[in-house]
Amino acid sequence: MTNKPLVAITGASTGIGEATARAFSAAGHPVLVMARSLDRLEALGLPNSVVRQVDVRDRDAIAAAVSDAEAEYGPVDMMFANAGIARLADISRQPPEEWDEMIDINTKGVMNTVHAVMSGMMERRTGTLVMMSSIAGRKVYPDHTVYCGTKFFVHAVSESLREYLSAYDVRVLVLSPGVIETELLSGVLDQQTLENYKANKVKMGGGIGADIVGDLILNAYNLPQRALVQEICLTPTRQSY
Ligand code: NDP
Repeated sequence: MTNKPLVAITGASTGIGEATARAFSAAGHPVLVMARSLDRLEALGLPNSVVRQVDVRDRDAIAAAVSDAEAEYGPVDMMFANAGIARLADISRQPPEEWDEMIDINTKGVMNTVHAVMSGMMERRTGTLVMMSSIAGRKVYPDHTVYCGTKFFVHAVSESLREYLSAYDVRVLVLSPGVIETELLSGVLDQQTLENYKANKVKMGGGIGADIVGDLILNAYNLPQRALVQEICLTPTRQSY
């Protein structure tokens, strides 16, 4: 057992979510790891972990996973609303079904995730929400249209939540990474957009590792509760846009 508080992470099966779960677990936290790929969550093999197959579009499933983990390890002190997909595409040829999927997962999924823990944090007057936006939530790119829309949504909601929850001593940190080496590009179905993205990535010498992001979140979390890093914008040094 551990006496550090429980942390919860959506989209923990790969990439930034996985790296963050590993960082908090190595620091001694019990972790609730959620994603759709149960086999990959189980393969993480983290100690003091609760593994739940959760699609963030399913509000009840997130709430049930939080409730199960809290019964074992006490209240969630940090929720990382990380799960997301990037169906980047030339908007004139993008099938509308891709918008639906991105909007449902990246915006409504984030709200479902926050909803599962927010009232508990308010009652306890402590807690941290880490909201996954993107550099594409700070500026737009012409072949990221709807993806940018979803990440601007996360930025706006995070800023509003931060103002609202500050009176309850609950921290809201919005995270805006640039190019990080993960499996995110596997969700880009528009071949021309994918090729352009990869070419730009080569120009900047590749993305940076997800472990850097996980460690940074842990460091921000470890500040005293009355100190808040409101936003982290983290990019490869050579990413100029
Ligand atoms: P990955 O594709 O490696 O990870 C995405 C994670 O989200 C996976 O664990 C995936 O698991 C999960 N996920 C996707 N859809 C759902 C769903 N409906 N319900 C639950 N889990 C879901 O990419 P990243 O680690 O890069 O992406 C994590 C977040 O970081 C995303 O929100 C992305 O937009 C953001 N981001 C990434 C950047 C990058 O350059 N990599 C830059 C800026 C932001 P599963 O498929 O098993 O459900």
